Amino acid sequence: DTRKKDFHEAPNELSTIRHVIAVVSGKGGVGKSLVTGLMAVAMSRKGKHTGILDADITGPSIPKMFGTKGEVRGNQAGAYPVRTADGIEVVSMNLLLENSTDPVVWRGPIISGVVKQFWHDFIWEDIDYLFVDMPPGTGDVPLTVMQSIKLDGIIIVTSPQELVSMIVEKAVKMAEGMKVPILGLVENMSYFECPDCGKRHEIFGHSHIEEIAKSYGLDVLARIPIEPQLAAKCDAGQIETVADTHMQDAVQKLLDREEK
Ligand code: ADP
Repeated sequence: DTRKKDFHEAPNELSTIRHVIAVVSGKGGVGKSLVTGLMAVAMSRKGKHTGILDADITGPSIPKMFGTKGEVRGNQAGAYPVRTADGIEVVSMNLLLENSTDPVVWRGPIISGVVKQFWHDFIWEDIDYLFVDMPPGTGDVPLTVMQSIKLDGIIIVTSPQELVSMIVEKAVKMAEGMKVPILGLVENMSYFECPDCGKRHEIFGHSHIEEIAKSYGLDVLARIPIEPQLAAKCDAGQIETVADTHMQDAVQKLLDREEK
């Protein structure tokens, strides 16, 4: 189906983006943005020039997590992402709102229009890996975004409270329709490790992520524990100071793929 391919919006003439990876979830609040942020931090620590396109227009949380503020600069050729302390390039609705706590209440078509602008009107200079924090869910809005941006792969974030197999099935179908490979699953809030005794507690019950992944022939890229310090660092805009992103193996797998 070549029609779908033609749908893809071209990036800015001055952009160089080598790999584009979308992070999707079944619904909001499972940690999709956190996983996007941690992936980007881990990738950047591998020496790759990394960007985050925050396509979660109605719930943009990337800038807060990184403590990035500041104006988006631009010229006739396009606008420039805002750089985090460690040099990750970020574009987010949050950086464009006059008042960052203003709610964004737009409908799907407007949202996908904005995402297209983030893709095309911004100059993504020399980016090795661009992570796209997708709008939550597997409905119309993420689908339209997927049609406009040419993706190299999708990462699915789930949590043990969800009907994971259903979400995975929907995401798999969406990815197949778009002919984009699924790079793997990330289970967030997998367990809690007691800081006193080190014992792992599976708060939301025993995880089935490995079985589900296996039944779809997918990889589990990471299992991230519930970590109050992690949430605290994100709230304080200090995600780049986390010692363990839990994503070292996951980003290594992406880099290994690149070599193949
Ligand atoms: P989503 O993007 O899926 O809506 P977020 O990444 O914004 O979800 O996460 C929702 C909230 O849960 C945030 O406040 C985040 O800091 C917190 N959170 C997510 N994952 C974890 C975790 N593993 N440990 C502690 N807090 C977490």
